[in-house]
Amino acid sequence: MPLYFSSPVSAVAGVGPAKAAALKTLGINSVYDLLHHFPRAYQNRKDVKTLCEAALSGEKCALVLSVGSTPQTALLKNRKTLTKFTVFDESGSCTVTFFNQGYLKSVFNVGDVFRFFGKVERFRSTWQLSSPDYEPLGGVRPLCDFYPIYPLTSGISQKVMQNIIGTALAALDGVPLDPIPEKIRNRANICSYAEALYSIHRPKNIESLAKAREYFMFEELFLFSAEIVRSKQNISTKEALPLSVTRADMKRFFETIPFKLTAAQTRVITEISADLKKSVPMHRLIQGDVGSGKTICAASAAYICIKSGFQCAIMAPTEILARQHYSDLCALFEKLEIKCQLLVGSMSAAKKREAHEKCASGEAQLIIGTHALIAEGVRFCNPGLFITDEQHRFGIAQRSALSDKKSEMTHFVPHTLAMTATPIPRTLALVLLSDIDISIIDELPPGRKKVSTFLVDESYRTRLEGFICKQCSEGKQVYIVCPAIENSGDEEEDCDLMSLDGSVISRKEELKLKSVFDCYTDFTARFPEIKFAYLHGKMSGREKDKIMSDFAAGKISVLISTTVIEVGVNVPNSTLMVIENAERFGLSQLHQLRGRVGRGEAKSWCILISDSEKEEVKQRLDAFCKTNDGFEIARADLALRGPGDFFAALGRERQHGKLSFRFASLCDNNDMLSLAFAEATALIEDDPSLEKKENECLRDALSQLSENNLA
Ligand code: ADP
Ligand code: MG
Repeated sequence: MPLYFSSPVSAVAGVGPAKAAALKTLGINSVYDLLHHFPRAYQNRKDVKTLCEAALSGEKCALVLSVGSTPQTALLKNRKTLTKFTVFDESGSCTVTFFNQGYLKSVFNVGDVFRFFGKVERFRSTWQLSSPDYEPLGGVRPLCDFYPIYPLTSGISQKVMQNIIGTALAALDGVPLDPIPEKIRNRANICSYAEALYSIHRPKNIESLAKAREYFMFEELFLFSAEIVRSKQNISTKEALPLSVTRADMKRFFETIPFKLTAAQTRVITEISADLKKSVPMHRLIQGDVGSGKTICAASAAYICIKSGFQCAIMAPTEILARQHYSDLCALFEKLEIKCQLLVGSMSAAKKREAHEKCASGEAQLIIGTHALIAEGVRFCNPGLFITDEQHRFGIAQRSALSDKKSEMTHFVPHTLAMTATPIPRTLALVLLSDIDISIIDELPPGRKKVSTFLVDESYRTRLEGFICKQCSEGKQVYIVCPAIENSGDEEEDCDLMSLDGSVISRKEELKLKSVFDCYTDFTARFPEIKFAYLHGKMSGREKDKIMSDFAAGKISVLISTTVIEVGVNVPNSTLMVIENAERFGLSQLHQLRGRVGRGEAKSWCILISDSEKEEVKQRLDAFCKTNDGFEIARADLALRGPGDFFAALGRERQHGKLSFRFASLCDNNDMLSLAFAEATALIEDDPSLEKKENECLRDALSQLSENNLA
């Protein structure tokens, strides 16, 4: 049966219901999804070792060996069969063993040469290569230099994933058409989509992998640019409802706020109110450091909108954050007789239906939620303003999907407001976000205490643990952030790997990473009197929420977590933030994490642990300890690492496929970005609604992209 991108993944030979279900947890439903499940790294099978070298290294590696004896199969006591034969090269010989694969007898004939991949180990008095991968040398297919290593889920082993994807690649009917027109590809000197797709999974050599990477980088930047150009085109022709309130109403709002606004906040609110009065839609971004008080600015915009008689929605990137906003804003708006409604994915079907109804009827005036807000079936009655928090966390498609949720009754579009703590590089903002106005909050509310920040190494661990216990015994709360969820026990990775950009991922370095599970197990065993809990991105929204609300309620003293806690949660009683393997995080990310503490009256600390010997790392982390100024940190970070943190989800906890940038970086690929942007602009000027035949695939790719982003 021919396979198409749109075929369900179960159409791939070898994928039954169980595997299909497992793949679903990785966000893989269709053949398209499967073939866009890219390797996270590659095994190097080009560098062949001799038996002698392999035995000495003790690591998995590639070997080219001749079969020296006819395979013999024996029945073992445990009813397994053992197939055994000898192999040799110029440096020596060893035994190859396979369990329960008697059919291999006919595969290995004396004198044949194979490339094996495995670990040569001592077994009793002999050297043994047990259950290695093998490929005949001199076969029809040339051997690939690199083998893909995929992100996995339980129920799918590395080998199974490799096979499924290999099968799908081979069975794909016809060459997938190029989203980027050929003329443009030629000018940009990039390969075809089909070639890139094949090479990313099965790179013949390092050059073909580089070509594939370049293709996907360009594709991302090109599609991104095309989206931007198209949305700009739409915006300029659209009309919005002017929103405003009386002075008295505004005064009442300000009197309800439990604190005095800073001058910066007042300025931003003035800027927003002026925008909202206009009949062109507002597109404004509030940029302000962690804790600078962006939420209240957004709340005042919401108030103006609702008091003018229209609905307002706030979308947050995580449930934790959405619920936090909900409880904070409910407290405020209740006093103003404004009805708030929560809408998040983990709500029961009945609760969700109720929320949908209140949204559609207009009974809910302020709707706060996650991506659930842009799900199909959500209708607003008369939306006047859409707000997104931590907007860099969303893809463009998600943001525009929210704006698309306008009322069907009118041609008016809602105003939009976004908030971010991550400054957008100016040059980038100029090119890509030229249609957006930026308001900056450059002042923290009074009385904020500086978080004392220290960089320590392993030798400090005992003292640090003492400090953690002391904080807990004083009734304070602690965060510990680790770079990994668990140390992978994946056999396939039992060797150094090559990352997609050709750099080496050292197995030893990876093993040294502190993981949430190890840390949790270790602590709970040694400090039974302290209440620990853990949190990571692979937990369900409901689980995460439960933990976070328990932490907020003080039922948990120490929360061990990945960077999922980085955005926005507010637990004023937490006074200590410990960051393991601090060298693994970007400065802006560290700053976000540090922003989780120092939110109450008590003195707070942030301790970075790093054993890195690298001078540049030490300098970077030292500089971080010395300043609390988020903008300064962002500038330093940009200079050092490019805007990786701007699209922060590019880190280890990248959500599958939701973020548009997996390959390109908006700063590092400046030239490519300018080219992609210029090409996209020219193309869309020439064919605004992408009706021409040659642009058909681009149109499909853009809608595919937004569908994926919304999935
Ligand atoms: P962020 O900009 O990181 O989103 P928030 O809006 O969550 O920051 O504000 C952080 C905390 O500061 C909240 O608890 C909020 O109530 C408080 N806050 C905001 N503005 C002021 C102010 N002008 N004076 C005192 N506290 C404020
Ligand atoms: Mg916030």
